[in-house]
This record gives sequence, C-alpha cells and structure tokens, in this order.
Amino acid sequence: MFYLFVSLVVFAIADFYRRRQRDEARRLEQERDPRVEGGPQFAGAQCSHCEESILMQDDGMACRTCSITIHRACSKAHRLAAHDKAAGYRRDGRAGLR
Ligand SMILES: [Zn+2]
Ligand SMILES: [Zn+2]
Repeated sequence: MFYLFVSLVVFAIADFYRRRQRDEARRLEQERDPRVEGGPQFAGAQCSHCEESILMQDDGMACRTCSITIHRACSKAHRLAAHDKAAGYRRDGRAGLR
C-alpha cells in the first residue's frame, strides 16, 4: 500500500513538471509576437495615397479602415479622401450623404 502511494506521488510530481514544461514552451511560443517578426513590411512599399515609395518601416502603416499601405503622414489625408463619404458622414458632422 505504501509503495502504491509513493508511486502515485512520484507520478503526480513527474506529471506536474511535464505539464509545467509544456506550458512554458507554449508561453514562449506566444511571446514571439507575429507583429514583430512576420508583420507587414512597409519599407520599400508604395503609398496608396500619394503613390510615392515608403522609405522607412516606421513611416508606413496600414489604414485601419481599408488596410491599404500608406505613409503615416498620409493617413489623415487618405482618411478624408477615401473614407469621409464612405463612412456616411460629412465633415460638418451631419449624418448622411450630401
Ligand atoms: Zn504617401
Ligand atoms: Zn483607408
């Protein structure tokens, strides 16, 4: 009976460590942020708003509304040009088209 108890405890401890190792591996995998490693490359891409190329990764961004690649500096102009009417509001704040 005692040996059965000991082997159960040993099994439980071994299982606990196995589980912890697996969780640790999973956590490390999740920490490798896909946005950092395999995210969109803006450097060298063309801005869909002004059609000039984006030189630095930090200068580019994806439009939150339509996901096209634009300069960070162009995002405001792009939103006004592409999404002002599409969003169904006018710049004076009144709803509806025209
Ligand atoms: Zn641009
Ligand atoms: Zn857009």
